[in-house]
Amino acid sequence: MVYTKPGTVELLEVGEPVAGPGEVVVEVVACGICGSELHGISKPGFRQPPLVMGHEFSARTPSGDSVAVDPIVSCGQCILCRDGHNEVCRERRIIGIHRQGAFAERVAVPERALHKLPEPVPVEQGALVEPLANALHAWRLAGGTSGSTVGVLGAGSIGLSMLLVSKHYGARVSITDISPERLELAKRLGADATSRELDGEFHVVVDAVGATATRRASLEHLAPTGTAVWLGLLDPGPDFDALDMIRMEKRIAGSFAYSHSDFADAVALAAEVDLSWATSFDLDQGPTIFGELMAGRSDVVKALLHPRPLSPQA
Ligand SMILES: [Zn+2]
Ligand SMILES: [Zn+2]
Repeated sequence: MVYTKPGTVELLEVGEPVAGPGEVVVEVVACGICGSELHGISKPGFRQPPLVMGHEFSARTPSGDSVAVDPIVSCGQCILCRDGHNEVCRERRIIGIHRQGAFAERVAVPERALHKLPEPVPVEQGALVEPLANALHAWRLAGGTSGSTVGVLGAGSIGLSMLLVSKHYGARVSITDISPERLELAKRLGADATSRELDGEFHVVVDAVGATATRRASLEHLAPTGTAVWLGLLDPGPDFDALDMIRMEKRIAGSFAYSHSDFADAVALAAEVDLSWATSFDLDQGPTIFGELMAGRSDVVKALLHPRPLSPQA
């Protein structure tokens, strides 16, 4: 499925992926459609057509292992990489953004990006390791602890992953969304409170939307010395009370993706949290699903595309 021009993805026959040095071609099992792709294709920028997108995926290796793939390919040499911040390496190349991705039957990936899934995790759920890794990275940037109160703005896949991670580490979580269905799901996944808008003050507020209004809300509902983590990428604009931020020693952390070690830890965490909330489609249906999600006509939280039918569970 190729991003061919602004606003358009289509199914095309393309050449076989070629593995470079240290790389291997894997068979894609499941690839999640990311919110950043829905917004990203309306105008070329971070992503340039023609491009096979898809960076949230699980696969099978030539030796038959079920794996999640860490899509961030960094230089490994610079000071950022050596300090464990490879996600902001200036040479970073992300599979599905800067090089061909996983909305395809096969994709070439570095061997070191492969992470064998723990036994209990069904291979298709391995595609949710990527959003989980985003949440784990945000949790670590926020300095969350078991006593923390956490407010999450947005119950999409990043917001829900943030809920799962925060609950796993013993925090108390309030989550907001405009969709009652998503709030129901959040409740099932363990949210302590669900509402349309945040109410009260929190040690950590995570903005998984990225609108000007949610950035402002993330600071308004932050307790003094608390940390707002911004992951949502909807609007570029800031609009918040900087004086309140200074007087109450509030912090803002930008959070982009995850380091290699966050990703590895998210693979292990996948065995301990509920990742059963995605919806599966054939890759052939991809352009239709993409259109519906872009137009806001679908209430699917996370659509997974499968290039071939899933083998029946044993
Ligand atoms: Zn994503
Ligand atoms: Zn680097």
